[in-house]
Amino acid sequence: MGDSTGHKHKHLEFTLAAVSELSSSSSVSSSSTPVIARFSADDGVAALRFHQGSEFIDGFNVDLGTSQLFKLGPLQSLCVSESADTNKEKSYSRGVSIRFRNEEESRDFHSAFEQWQMESKGTHLPNGDISVSKSKFDNKIEPSSAKMYFHYYGQLLHQQNMLQDYVRTGTYYAAVIENRVDFTGRVVVDVGAGSGILSLFAAQAGAKHVYAVEASEMADYARKLITGNPTLGQRITVIKGKVEEAELPEKADILISEPMGTLLVNERMLESYIIARDRFLVPNGKMFPSTGRIHMAPFSDEYLFVEIANKALFWQQQNYYGVDLTPLYGSAFQGYFSQPVVDAFDPRLLVCPPMCHVLNFNEIKEEDLYEIDIPLKFTASVGTRVHGLACWFDVLFNGSCFIDSTVQRWLTTAPGAPTTHWYQIRCVLSQPIYVMAGQEITGQLHMIAHNAQSYTIYLTLSAKMWGPGAEQGGIIQTSSCKLDLKEPYYRMSQPQPYTMAQDQQPHQLLQAEDIPPIHTEDLDLEELELLQQPSEPLGAQ
Ligand code: SAH
Repeated sequence: MGDSTGHKHKHLEFTLAAVSELSSSSSVSSSSTPVIARFSADDGVAALRFHQGSEFIDGFNVDLGTSQLFKLGPLQSLCVSESADTNKEKSYSRGVSIRFRNEEESRDFHSAFEQWQMESKGTHLPNGDISVSKSKFDNKIEPSSAKMYFHYYGQLLHQQNMLQDYVRTGTYYAAVIENRVDFTGRVVVDVGAGSGILSLFAAQAGAKHVYAVEASEMADYARKLITGNPTLGQRITVIKGKVEEAELPEKADILISEPMGTLLVNERMLESYIIARDRFLVPNGKMFPSTGRIHMAPFSDEYLFVEIANKALFWQQQNYYGVDLTPLYGSAFQGYFSQPVVDAFDPRLLVCPPMCHVLNFNEIKEEDLYEIDIPLKFTASVGTRVHGLACWFDVLFNGSCFIDSTVQRWLTTAPGAPTTHWYQIRCVLSQPIYVMAGQEITGQLHMIAHNAQSYTIYLTLSAKMWGPGAEQGGIIQTSSCKLDLKEPYYRMSQPQPYTMAQDQQPHQLLQAEDIPPIHTEDLDLEELELLQQPSEPLGAQ
Protein backbone atom coordinates (compact mmCIF):
# COMPACT_ATOMS: atom_id res chain seq x y z
CA MET A 1 0.00 0.00 0.00
CA GLY A 2 1.15 3.52 -0.67
CA ASP A 3 1.67 6.12 1.97
CA SER A 4 -1.65 6.59 3.64
CA THR A 5 -2.07 9.61 5.81
CA GLY A 6 -4.98 11.06 7.66
CA HIS A 7 -8.52 9.85 8.14
CA LYS A 8 -9.83 7.09 5.89
CA HIS A 9 -12.61 9.15 4.36
CA LYS A 10 -10.74 12.46 4.26
CA HIS A 11 -7.81 11.61 2.03
CA LEU A 12 -5.52 8.83 0.92
CA GLU A 13 -2.13 9.25 -0.72
CA PHE A 14 0.03 7.09 -2.96
CA THR A 15 3.58 7.75 -4.06
CA LEU A 16 4.01 7.26 -7.81
CA ALA A 17 6.97 6.79 -10.12
CA ALA A 18 5.55 9.36 -12.59
CA VAL A 19 2.42 10.98 -14.07
CA SER A 20 1.90 12.59 -17.43
CA GLU A 21 -1.02 14.07 -19.29
CA LEU A 22 -1.71 12.42 -22.64
CA SER A 23 -2.78 15.48 -24.61
CA SER A 24 0.14 17.63 -23.52
CA SER A 25 3.78 16.93 -23.15
CA SER A 26 3.77 17.67 -19.42
CA SER A 27 5.19 14.85 -17.44
CA VAL A 28 6.26 14.77 -13.84
CA SER A 29 8.47 12.08 -12.35
CA SER A 30 9.56 11.27 -8.84
CA SER A 31 13.27 11.71 -9.62
CA SER A 32 13.81 14.74 -7.40
CA THR A 33 10.72 15.08 -5.16
CA PRO A 34 8.16 12.24 -4.90
CA VAL A 35 4.99 12.61 -7.00
CA ILE A 36 1.93 11.96 -4.88
CA ALA A 37 -1.56 10.92 -6.01
CA ARG A 38 -4.11 12.16 -3.48
CA PHE A 39 -7.69 10.96 -3.16
CA SER A 40 -9.71 13.45 -1.20
CA ALA A 41 -13.24 14.46 -0.35
CA ASP A 42 -12.26 17.65 1.48
CA ASP A 43 -14.58 19.95 -0.45
CA GLY A 44 -17.49 17.53 -0.63
CA VAL A 45 -16.58 16.06 -4.03
CA ALA A 46 -14.39 12.98 -4.29
CA ALA A 47 -11.42 13.89 -6.45
CA LEU A 48 -8.01 12.61 -7.41
CA ARG A 49 -5.25 15.18 -7.56
CA PHE A 50 -1.54 14.97 -7.97
CA HIS A 51 1.13 16.98 -6.23
CA GLN A 52 4.87 17.14 -5.99
CA GLY A 53 6.21 18.39 -2.70
CA SER A 54 3.74 20.97 -1.46
CA GLU A 55 2.67 22.01 -5.00
CA PHE A 56 -0.44 20.65 -6.71
CA ILE A 57 0.23 19.77 -10.32
CA ASP A 58 -2.13 21.98 -12.30
CA GLY A 59 -4.50 20.56 -14.91
CA PHE A 60 -4.23 16.96 -13.70
CA ASN A 61 -7.35 17.00 -11.51
CA VAL A 62 -9.65 14.02 -11.97
CA ASP A 63 -13.33 14.02 -11.04
CA LEU A 64 -13.89 10.48 -9.74
CA GLY A 65 -17.57 10.62 -10.66
CA THR A 66 -16.88 10.68 -14.40
CA SER A 67 -13.57 8.87 -14.77
CA GLN A 68 -12.37 5.37 -15.51
CA LEU A 69 -9.08 3.70 -14.70
CA PHE A 70 -7.53 1.20 -17.10
CA LYS A 71 -4.57 -1.04 -16.44
CA LEU A 72 -2.20 -0.86 -19.40
CA GLY A 73 0.58 -2.94 -17.89
CA PRO A 74 1.85 -4.17 -14.54
CA LEU A 75 3.16 -0.69 -13.65
CA GLN A 76 1.25 1.51 -16.08
CA SER A 77 -2.37 2.68 -15.88
CA LEU A 78 -4.45 5.24 -17.68
CA CYS A 79 -7.09 7.38 -16.04
CA VAL A 80 -9.61 8.75 -18.54
CA SER A 81 -12.07 11.42 -17.49
CA GLU A 82 -14.26 14.11 -18.92
CA SER A 83 -12.71 17.52 -19.24
CA ALA A 84 -12.75 19.39 -15.95
CA ASP A 85 -13.30 22.60 -17.90
CA THR A 86 -17.03 23.17 -17.67
CA ASN A 87 -16.87 26.34 -19.80
CA LYS A 88 -16.08 24.41 -22.92
CA GLU A 89 -19.11 23.86 -25.12
CA LYS A 90 -18.05 20.44 -26.29
CA SER A 91 -16.97 17.90 -23.73
CA TYR A 92 -13.86 15.91 -24.52
CA SER A 93 -11.90 13.24 -22.71
CA ARG A 94 -8.53 13.64 -21.21
CA GLY A 95 -6.14 11.00 -20.03
CA VAL A 96 -3.63 10.95 -17.25
CA SER A 97 -1.01 8.26 -17.56
CA ILE A 98 0.21 6.91 -14.24
CA ARG A 99 3.41 4.92 -13.59
CA PHE A 100 3.69 2.98 -10.33
CA ARG A 101 6.80 2.06 -8.41
CA ASN A 102 5.78 -1.58 -8.05
CA GLU A 103 2.88 -3.96 -8.79
CA GLU A 104 1.58 -4.01 -5.25
CA GLU A 105 1.17 -0.25 -5.23
CA SER A 106 -0.54 -0.46 -8.61
CA ARG A 107 -3.02 -2.99 -7.20
CA ASP A 108 -3.69 -0.95 -4.08
CA PHE A 109 -4.19 2.19 -6.14
CA HIS A 110 -6.77 0.43 -8.34
CA SER A 111 -8.68 -0.80 -5.26
CA ALA A 112 -8.62 2.65 -3.72
CA PHE A 113 -9.78 4.20 -6.98
CA GLU A 114 -12.84 1.89 -7.07
CA GLN A 115 -13.60 2.55 -3.44
CA TRP A 116 -13.40 6.32 -3.78
CA GLN A 117 -15.31 6.22 -7.02
CA MET A 118 -18.16 4.34 -5.37
CA GLU A 119 -18.22 6.87 -2.58
CA SER A 120 -18.12 9.74 -5.06
CA LYS A 121 -21.47 8.62 -6.38
CA GLY A 122 -22.93 9.38 -3.00
CA THR A 123 -23.74 12.68 -1.41
CA HIS A 124 -21.78 14.22 1.40
CA LEU A 125 -23.50 14.83 4.66
CA PRO A 126 -22.59 17.82 6.82
CA ASN A 127 -20.88 15.58 9.39
CA GLY A 128 -18.41 14.45 6.74
CA ASP A 129 -19.93 11.01 6.20
CA ILE A 130 -20.71 9.92 2.70
CA SER A 131 -24.15 8.53 1.96
CA VAL A 132 -24.02 6.51 -1.24
CA SER A 133 -27.17 6.73 -3.35
CA LYS A 134 -28.95 3.42 -3.03
CA SER A 135 -28.73 0.82 -5.77
CA LYS A 136 -31.34 -1.80 -6.63
CA PHE A 137 -29.44 -4.18 -4.37
CA ASP A 138 -29.38 -1.81 -1.39
CA ASN A 139 -33.06 -1.01 -1.79
CA LYS A 140 -34.19 -4.58 -1.26
CA ILE A 141 -31.50 -6.20 0.90
CA GLU A 142 -31.02 -5.63 4.62
CA PRO A 143 -27.47 -4.19 5.12
CA SER A 144 -26.64 -6.66 7.90
CA SER A 145 -27.56 -9.59 5.62
CA ALA A 146 -25.45 -8.22 2.77
CA LYS A 147 -22.54 -7.65 5.13
CA MET A 148 -22.56 -11.24 6.36
CA TYR A 149 -23.10 -12.56 2.84
CA PHE A 150 -20.12 -10.76 1.30
CA HIS A 151 -18.00 -11.49 4.36
CA TYR A 152 -18.69 -15.18 3.80
CA TYR A 153 -17.75 -15.06 0.10
CA GLY A 154 -14.71 -12.91 0.88
CA GLN A 155 -13.03 -15.93 2.48
CA LEU A 156 -10.92 -18.31 0.42
CA LEU A 157 -12.15 -21.38 2.31
CA HIS A 158 -15.69 -20.89 1.03
CA GLN A 159 -14.52 -20.29 -2.54
CA GLN A 160 -12.41 -23.44 -2.19
CA ASN A 161 -15.50 -25.36 -1.12
CA MET A 162 -17.17 -24.40 -4.41
CA LEU A 163 -14.03 -25.03 -6.46
CA GLN A 164 -13.77 -28.48 -4.88
CA ASP A 165 -17.27 -29.32 -6.04
CA TYR A 166 -15.92 -30.98 -9.17
CA VAL A 167 -19.36 -31.72 -10.57
CA ARG A 168 -20.07 -28.00 -10.49
CA THR A 169 -16.72 -26.61 -11.60
CA GLY A 170 -16.05 -29.44 -14.07
CA THR A 171 -19.42 -28.91 -15.75
CA TYR A 172 -18.74 -25.18 -16.09
CA TYR A 173 -15.29 -25.95 -17.51
CA ALA A 174 -16.69 -28.44 -20.03
CA ALA A 175 -19.54 -26.12 -21.01
CA VAL A 176 -17.13 -23.24 -21.68
CA ILE A 177 -14.40 -25.21 -23.44
CA GLU A 178 -16.82 -27.25 -25.60
CA ASN A 179 -18.46 -24.00 -26.65
CA ARG A 180 -15.32 -21.97 -27.22
CA VAL A 181 -16.92 -20.62 -30.38
CA ASP A 182 -19.24 -18.62 -28.11
CA PHE A 183 -16.25 -17.11 -26.27
CA THR A 184 -13.54 -16.67 -28.89
CA GLY A 185 -13.02 -13.00 -29.66
CA ARG A 186 -15.98 -12.02 -27.44
CA VAL A 187 -16.39 -9.64 -24.54
CA VAL A 188 -17.47 -11.54 -21.43
CA VAL A 189 -18.78 -10.43 -18.04
CA ASP A 190 -18.34 -12.82 -15.12
CA VAL A 191 -21.22 -11.96 -12.77
CA GLY A 192 -20.07 -12.52 -9.16
CA ALA A 193 -16.61 -13.73 -10.13
CA GLY A 194 -15.50 -14.96 -6.68
CA SER A 195 -11.98 -16.36 -7.13
CA GLY A 196 -12.17 -15.48 -10.84
CA ILE A 197 -12.22 -19.10 -11.96
CA LEU A 198 -14.95 -18.70 -14.59
CA SER A 199 -13.19 -15.60 -15.99
CA LEU A 200 -10.03 -17.68 -16.38
CA PHE A 201 -12.05 -20.43 -18.14
CA ALA A 202 -13.55 -17.82 -20.49
CA ALA A 203 -10.07 -16.47 -21.23
CA GLN A 204 -8.89 -20.05 -21.91
CA ALA A 205 -11.74 -20.34 -24.41
CA GLY A 206 -10.35 -17.32 -26.26
CA ALA A 207 -12.41 -14.41 -24.89
CA LYS A 208 -11.21 -11.04 -26.17
CA HIS A 209 -11.74 -9.48 -22.77
CA VAL A 210 -13.40 -10.58 -19.52
CA TYR A 211 -14.74 -8.21 -16.89
CA ALA A 212 -14.83 -10.07 -13.57
CA VAL A 213 -17.29 -8.26 -11.28
CA GLU A 214 -17.11 -9.28 -7.62
CA ALA A 215 -18.49 -7.37 -4.66
CA SER A 216 -16.70 -9.09 -1.78
CA GLU A 217 -13.08 -8.83 -0.64
CA MET A 218 -12.54 -11.91 -2.82
CA ALA A 219 -12.04 -9.42 -5.68
CA ASP A 220 -8.53 -8.71 -4.34
CA TYR A 221 -7.69 -12.44 -4.29
CA ALA A 222 -9.15 -12.81 -7.79
CA ARG A 223 -6.77 -10.05 -8.94
CA LYS A 224 -3.89 -11.92 -7.39
CA LEU A 225 -4.88 -15.21 -9.02
CA ILE A 226 -5.38 -13.53 -12.38
CA THR A 227 -2.08 -11.64 -12.19
CA GLY A 228 -0.40 -14.96 -11.42
CA ASN A 229 -1.78 -16.42 -14.67
CA PRO A 230 -0.47 -13.67 -16.96
CA THR A 231 -1.21 -15.23 -20.36
CA LEU A 232 -4.90 -15.35 -19.45
CA GLY A 233 -4.84 -12.50 -16.96
CA GLN A 234 -3.91 -9.83 -19.48
CA ARG A 235 -7.39 -10.24 -20.96
CA ILE A 236 -9.20 -10.02 -17.62
CA THR A 237 -10.13 -6.92 -15.62
CA VAL A 238 -11.38 -7.41 -12.08
CA ILE A 239 -13.96 -4.87 -10.99
CA LYS A 240 -14.63 -4.74 -7.28
CA GLY A 241 -18.25 -3.82 -6.73
CA LYS A 242 -21.81 -5.02 -7.02
CA VAL A 243 -23.12 -5.79 -10.49
CA GLU A 244 -26.01 -3.47 -9.62
CA GLU A 245 -23.56 -0.57 -9.29
CA ALA A 246 -20.41 -1.30 -11.31
CA GLU A 247 -19.80 0.59 -14.57
CA LEU A 248 -18.17 -1.21 -17.48
CA PRO A 249 -16.43 0.47 -20.42
CA GLU A 250 -18.19 -1.70 -23.03
CA LYS A 251 -21.15 -4.07 -23.49
CA ALA A 252 -20.74 -7.82 -23.20
CA ASP A 253 -21.49 -10.46 -25.85
CA ILE A 254 -21.87 -13.14 -23.21
CA LEU A 255 -22.48 -13.37 -19.46
CA ILE A 256 -21.12 -16.19 -17.37
CA SER A 257 -22.16 -16.71 -13.77
CA GLU A 258 -22.79 -19.20 -11.02
CA PRO A 259 -25.67 -17.51 -9.19
CA MET A 260 -27.49 -20.63 -7.93
CA GLY A 261 -28.30 -21.20 -4.28
CA THR A 262 -30.18 -24.05 -2.64
CA LEU A 263 -33.50 -24.55 -4.40
CA LEU A 264 -31.95 -22.47 -7.22
CA VAL A 265 -33.21 -19.16 -5.86
CA ASN A 266 -31.70 -18.98 -2.36
CA GLU A 267 -29.30 -16.03 -1.85
CA ARG A 268 -31.36 -14.02 -4.41
CA MET A 269 -28.32 -13.80 -6.66
CA LEU A 270 -30.35 -14.80 -9.73
CA GLU A 271 -31.82 -11.32 -9.49
CA SER A 272 -28.31 -9.85 -9.75
CA TYR A 273 -27.70 -12.06 -12.80
CA ILE A 274 -30.84 -10.65 -14.44
CA ILE A 275 -29.86 -7.08 -13.51
CA ALA A 276 -26.40 -7.73 -15.03
CA ARG A 277 -28.14 -8.94 -18.20
CA ASP A 278 -30.12 -5.72 -18.45
CA ARG A 279 -27.13 -3.51 -17.68
CA PHE A 280 -24.27 -5.16 -19.54
CA LEU A 281 -25.44 -7.65 -22.20
CA VAL A 282 -25.90 -6.73 -25.87
CA PRO A 283 -29.40 -7.52 -27.23
CA ASN A 284 -29.65 -11.27 -27.91
CA GLY A 285 -26.36 -11.84 -26.10
CA LYS A 286 -25.71 -15.27 -24.60
CA MET A 287 -26.14 -16.24 -20.98
CA PHE A 288 -24.18 -19.12 -19.45
CA PRO A 289 -26.34 -20.64 -17.97
CA SER A 290 -29.46 -19.68 -19.93
CA THR A 291 -32.16 -21.69 -18.15
CA GLY A 292 -32.83 -22.95 -14.65
CA ARG A 293 -35.40 -25.53 -13.60
CA ILE A 294 -36.75 -26.33 -10.14
CA HIS A 295 -37.81 -29.99 -9.90
CA MET A 296 -40.23 -31.20 -7.27
CA ALA A 297 -41.76 -34.49 -6.11
CA PRO A 298 -43.47 -35.73 -2.94
CA PHE A 299 -41.33 -38.09 -0.86
CA SER A 300 -41.79 -40.62 1.93
CA ASP A 301 -39.12 -40.81 4.64
CA GLU A 302 -40.17 -42.06 8.07
CA TYR A 303 -36.63 -41.77 9.45
CA LEU A 304 -36.36 -38.11 8.56
CA PHE A 305 -39.83 -37.35 9.92
CA VAL A 306 -39.14 -39.05 13.25
CA GLU A 307 -35.72 -37.42 13.50
CA ILE A 308 -37.18 -33.93 13.12
CA ALA A 309 -40.10 -34.55 15.44
CA ASN A 310 -37.70 -35.99 18.04
CA LYS A 311 -35.66 -32.82 18.13
CA ALA A 312 -38.51 -31.04 19.90
CA LEU A 313 -38.87 -33.77 22.54
CA PHE A 314 -36.38 -31.97 24.75
CA TRP A 315 -39.14 -29.46 25.48
CA GLN A 316 -41.41 -32.22 26.76
CA GLN A 317 -39.54 -32.36 30.05
CA GLN A 318 -41.65 -31.29 33.00
CA ASN A 319 -38.81 -31.22 35.48
CA TYR A 320 -35.77 -29.66 33.90
CA TYR A 321 -33.86 -28.50 37.00
CA GLY A 322 -37.27 -27.96 38.53
CA VAL A 323 -38.66 -26.12 35.48
CA ASP A 324 -41.52 -27.32 33.27
CA LEU A 325 -40.36 -26.86 29.68
CA THR A 326 -43.57 -28.00 28.02
CA PRO A 327 -44.98 -24.49 27.39
CA LEU A 328 -42.36 -24.18 24.64
CA TYR A 329 -42.85 -27.62 23.12
CA GLY A 330 -45.28 -26.45 20.42
CA SER A 331 -43.02 -23.59 19.33
CA ALA A 332 -39.95 -25.83 19.22
CA PHE A 333 -41.86 -28.47 17.23
CA GLN A 334 -42.99 -25.83 14.73
CA GLY A 335 -39.49 -24.35 14.60
CA TYR A 336 -37.89 -27.63 13.59
CA PHE A 337 -40.47 -28.22 10.88
CA SER A 338 -39.83 -24.73 9.48
CA GLN A 339 -36.30 -25.70 8.49
CA PRO A 340 -35.87 -27.08 4.98
CA VAL A 341 -33.69 -30.19 5.18
CA VAL A 342 -30.53 -30.16 3.06
CA ASP A 343 -28.95 -33.54 2.32
CA ALA A 344 -28.49 -36.13 -0.40
CA PHE A 345 -31.34 -38.66 -0.40
CA ASP A 346 -32.03 -41.85 -2.27
CA PRO A 347 -34.31 -41.11 -5.25
CA ARG A 348 -36.33 -44.22 -4.35
CA LEU A 349 -37.86 -42.16 -1.54
CA LEU A 350 -39.80 -40.22 -4.18
CA VAL A 351 -43.39 -41.37 -4.43
CA CYS A 352 -44.36 -39.63 -7.72
CA PRO A 353 -42.68 -38.73 -11.00
CA PRO A 354 -41.32 -35.18 -10.54
CA MET A 355 -42.62 -32.01 -12.16
CA CYS A 356 -40.61 -28.89 -12.93
CA HIS A 357 -40.84 -25.11 -13.02
CA VAL A 358 -38.73 -23.41 -15.71
CA LEU A 359 -36.98 -20.04 -15.42
CA ASN A 360 -35.66 -18.67 -18.72
CA PHE A 361 -32.84 -16.31 -17.72
CA ASN A 362 -32.88 -14.56 -21.10
CA GLU A 363 -36.50 -13.57 -20.68
CA ILE A 364 -37.60 -13.30 -17.07
CA LYS A 365 -37.79 -9.96 -15.31
CA GLU A 366 -35.98 -9.39 -12.05
CA GLU A 367 -39.34 -8.78 -10.34
CA ASP A 368 -40.55 -12.23 -11.43
CA LEU A 369 -38.24 -13.63 -8.77
CA TYR A 370 -39.78 -11.65 -5.90
CA GLU A 371 -42.66 -14.10 -5.67
CA ILE A 372 -42.70 -17.56 -7.22
CA ASP A 373 -45.95 -19.48 -7.24
CA ILE A 374 -45.91 -23.07 -8.44
CA PRO A 375 -49.19 -25.08 -8.60
CA LEU A 376 -48.45 -28.73 -7.87
CA LYS A 377 -50.06 -31.84 -9.35
CA PHE A 378 -48.71 -35.38 -9.06
CA THR A 379 -49.93 -38.96 -9.31
CA ALA A 380 -48.69 -41.29 -6.56
CA SER A 381 -46.82 -44.34 -7.88
CA VAL A 382 -47.19 -46.22 -4.59
CA GLY A 383 -49.44 -46.26 -1.55
CA THR A 384 -47.53 -44.67 1.32
CA ARG A 385 -47.30 -41.83 3.78
CA VAL A 386 -46.13 -38.61 2.12
CA HIS A 387 -43.87 -36.59 4.41
CA GLY A 388 -43.32 -33.58 2.22
CA LEU A 389 -41.90 -32.21 -0.99
CA ALA A 390 -38.38 -32.90 -2.28
CA CYS A 391 -36.81 -30.27 -4.55
CA TRP A 392 -33.67 -29.92 -6.62
CA PHE A 393 -32.62 -27.92 -9.66
CA ASP A 394 -30.60 -27.98 -12.83
CA VAL A 395 -29.24 -25.29 -15.17
CA LEU A 396 -28.56 -25.39 -18.89
CA PHE A 397 -25.54 -24.18 -20.85
CA ASN A 398 -26.93 -23.74 -24.31
CA GLY A 399 -23.84 -23.38 -26.45
CA SER A 400 -23.53 -23.05 -30.18
CA CYS A 401 -20.55 -25.25 -30.92
CA PHE A 402 -21.07 -25.43 -34.66
CA ILE A 403 -23.10 -23.20 -36.90
CA ASP A 404 -25.90 -25.74 -37.27
CA SER A 405 -25.73 -27.63 -34.00
CA THR A 406 -25.59 -26.73 -30.36
CA VAL A 407 -23.79 -28.31 -27.46
CA GLN A 408 -26.18 -28.44 -24.56
CA ARG A 409 -24.83 -29.27 -21.16
CA TRP A 410 -26.88 -29.56 -18.00
CA LEU A 411 -25.55 -29.10 -14.49
CA THR A 412 -27.90 -31.15 -12.33
CA THR A 413 -28.29 -31.50 -8.58
CA ALA A 414 -30.82 -34.35 -8.83
CA PRO A 415 -30.97 -37.16 -6.24
CA GLY A 416 -29.10 -40.15 -7.59
CA ALA A 417 -26.85 -37.97 -9.77
CA PRO A 418 -23.30 -37.26 -8.51
CA THR A 419 -23.71 -35.16 -5.36
CA THR A 420 -22.92 -31.44 -5.48
CA HIS A 421 -22.39 -28.97 -2.64
CA TRP A 422 -26.05 -27.97 -3.10
CA TYR A 423 -27.29 -31.50 -2.24
CA GLN A 424 -31.10 -31.59 -2.41
CA ILE A 425 -33.71 -29.91 -0.29
CA ARG A 426 -36.78 -31.33 1.41
CA CYS A 427 -39.71 -29.46 2.94
CA VAL A 428 -41.14 -31.72 5.63
CA LEU A 429 -44.80 -31.57 6.67
CA SER A 430 -45.47 -31.83 10.41
CA GLN A 431 -48.65 -33.71 9.47
CA PRO A 432 -47.93 -36.37 6.82
CA ILE A 433 -50.69 -37.40 4.38
CA TYR A 434 -51.64 -40.93 3.30
CA VAL A 435 -51.95 -41.75 -0.39
CA MET A 436 -52.86 -44.83 -2.44
CA ALA A 437 -51.12 -45.84 -5.68
CA GLY A 438 -52.68 -43.83 -8.53
CA GLN A 439 -54.10 -41.19 -6.23
CA GLU A 440 -53.71 -37.57 -7.25
CA ILE A 441 -51.73 -35.20 -5.04
CA THR A 442 -52.27 -31.50 -5.61
CA GLY A 443 -50.98 -28.43 -3.85
CA GLN A 444 -48.92 -25.29 -4.08
CA LEU A 445 -45.35 -24.19 -3.53
CA HIS A 446 -45.39 -20.47 -2.89
CA MET A 447 -42.10 -18.69 -2.31
CA ILE A 448 -41.84 -15.06 -1.25
CA ALA A 449 -38.48 -13.31 -1.31
CA HIS A 450 -37.39 -11.50 1.86
CA ASN A 451 -34.76 -8.84 2.53
CA ALA A 452 -32.33 -11.30 4.10
CA GLN A 453 -31.45 -12.68 0.64
CA SER A 454 -33.72 -15.69 0.88
CA TYR A 455 -37.34 -16.83 0.73
CA THR A 456 -40.25 -17.74 2.95
CA ILE A 457 -41.76 -20.95 1.59
CA TYR A 458 -45.44 -21.86 1.92
CA LEU A 459 -46.14 -25.48 1.00
CA THR A 460 -49.52 -27.17 0.78
CA LEU A 461 -50.05 -30.79 -0.28
CA SER A 462 -53.49 -32.37 -0.58
CA ALA A 463 -54.66 -35.88 -1.41
CA LYS A 464 -57.64 -35.97 -3.75
CA MET A 465 -60.56 -38.30 -3.13
CA TRP A 466 -59.88 -41.85 -4.26
CA GLY A 467 -61.97 -44.93 -5.10
CA PRO A 468 -65.79 -44.81 -4.99
CA GLY A 469 -67.01 -41.23 -5.13
CA ALA A 470 -63.73 -39.95 -6.60
CA GLU A 471 -65.62 -38.31 -9.47
CA GLN A 472 -66.70 -35.64 -7.04
CA GLY A 473 -62.99 -34.78 -6.89
CA GLY A 474 -62.99 -33.62 -3.25
CA ILE A 475 -59.88 -33.17 -1.13
CA ILE A 476 -59.77 -35.67 1.68
CA GLN A 477 -56.57 -34.66 3.42
CA THR A 478 -54.52 -31.52 3.32
CA SER A 479 -51.36 -30.44 5.10
CA SER A 480 -49.49 -27.13 5.02
CA CYS A 481 -46.27 -25.71 6.37
CA LYS A 482 -44.27 -22.51 6.35
CA LEU A 483 -40.50 -22.67 6.05
CA ASP A 484 -37.59 -20.22 5.97
CA LEU A 485 -35.09 -21.06 3.26
CA LYS A 486 -32.55 -18.92 5.09
CA GLU A 487 -32.48 -21.37 8.03
CA PRO A 488 -31.92 -24.83 6.58
CA TYR A 489 -31.09 -27.94 8.56
CA TYR A 490 -27.85 -29.33 7.13
CA ARG A 491 -28.14 -33.03 7.65
CA MET A 492 -25.11 -34.25 5.70
CA SER A 493 -23.02 -35.25 8.72
CA GLN A 494 -25.87 -37.30 10.15
CA PRO A 495 -25.70 -41.07 9.79
CA GLN A 496 -27.43 -41.84 6.50
CA PRO A 497 -30.24 -44.37 6.91
CA TYR A 498 -30.45 -45.11 3.21
CA THR A 499 -28.26 -48.21 3.19
CA MET A 500 -31.28 -50.09 4.47
CA ALA A 501 -33.65 -48.21 2.19
CA GLN A 502 -31.65 -49.30 -0.86
CA ASP A 503 -33.52 -52.57 -0.99
CA GLN A 504 -36.91 -51.28 -0.07
CA GLN A 505 -39.60 -49.34 -1.78
CA PRO A 506 -40.82 -46.28 0.13
CA HIS A 507 -44.12 -47.86 1.08
CA GLN A 508 -42.27 -50.79 2.65
CA LEU A 509 -40.30 -48.54 4.98
CA LEU A 510 -40.77 -48.69 8.73
CA GLN A 511 -43.97 -46.86 9.50
CA ALA A 512 -43.32 -44.80 12.60
CA GLU A 513 -46.40 -43.28 14.16
CA ASP A 514 -47.02 -39.57 14.55
CA ILE A 515 -44.80 -38.21 17.23
CA PRO A 516 -46.55 -35.34 19.10
CA PRO A 517 -47.14 -35.31 22.87
CA ILE A 518 -49.27 -38.42 23.33
CA HIS A 519 -46.47 -40.83 22.47
CA THR A 520 -43.72 -39.16 24.40
CA GLU A 521 -45.19 -38.27 27.74
CA ASP A 522 -44.16 -41.51 29.36
CA LEU A 523 -40.53 -41.30 28.23
CA ASP A 524 -38.05 -40.53 30.99
CA LEU A 525 -35.08 -38.18 30.57
CA GLU A 526 -32.66 -40.94 29.63
CA GLU A 527 -34.91 -42.17 26.84
CA LEU A 528 -35.36 -38.61 25.65
CA GLU A 529 -31.62 -38.10 25.49
CA LEU A 530 -31.23 -41.25 23.44
CA LEU A 531 -33.59 -39.77 20.92
CA GLN A 532 -31.57 -36.55 20.58
CA GLN A 533 -29.51 -36.20 17.42
CA PRO A 534 -25.95 -34.89 17.30
CA SER A 535 -25.78 -31.13 16.75
CA GLU A 536 -25.76 -29.63 13.28
CA PRO A 537 -22.58 -28.67 11.46
CA LEU A 538 -21.79 -24.96 11.44
CA GLY A 539 -21.61 -22.81 8.35
CA ALA A 540 -22.40 -25.56 5.94
CA GLN A 541 -23.58 -23.07 3.31
N1 SAH B 1 -18.04 -17.42 -9.96
C1 SAH B 1 -17.35 -18.00 -8.83
C2 SAH B 1 -18.03 -17.67 -7.50
C3 SAH B 1 -19.49 -18.09 -7.39
S1 SAH B 1 -20.21 -17.72 -5.81
C4 SAH B 1 -17.28 -19.50 -9.03
O1 SAH B 1 -18.02 -20.01 -9.85
O2 SAH B 1 -16.50 -20.16 -8.36
C5 SAH B 1 -21.04 -16.22 -6.12
C6 SAH B 1 -20.12 -14.99 -6.02
O3 SAH B 1 -20.88 -13.87 -6.45
C7 SAH B 1 -19.65 -14.67 -4.62
O4 SAH B 1 -18.25 -14.51 -4.60
C8 SAH B 1 -20.36 -13.39 -4.25
O5 SAH B 1 -19.61 -12.52 -3.42
C9 SAH B 1 -20.61 -12.77 -5.61
N2 SAH B 1 -21.81 -11.90 -5.66
C10 SAH B 1 -23.05 -12.20 -5.21
N3 SAH B 1 -23.90 -11.19 -5.46
C11 SAH B 1 -23.18 -10.24 -6.10
C12 SAH B 1 -23.50 -8.95 -6.62
N4 SAH B 1 -24.74 -8.47 -6.52
N5 SAH B 1 -22.52 -8.24 -7.20
C13 SAH B 1 -21.25 -8.73 -7.29
N6 SAH B 1 -20.88 -9.93 -6.80
C14 SAH B 1 -21.83 -10.68 -6.22
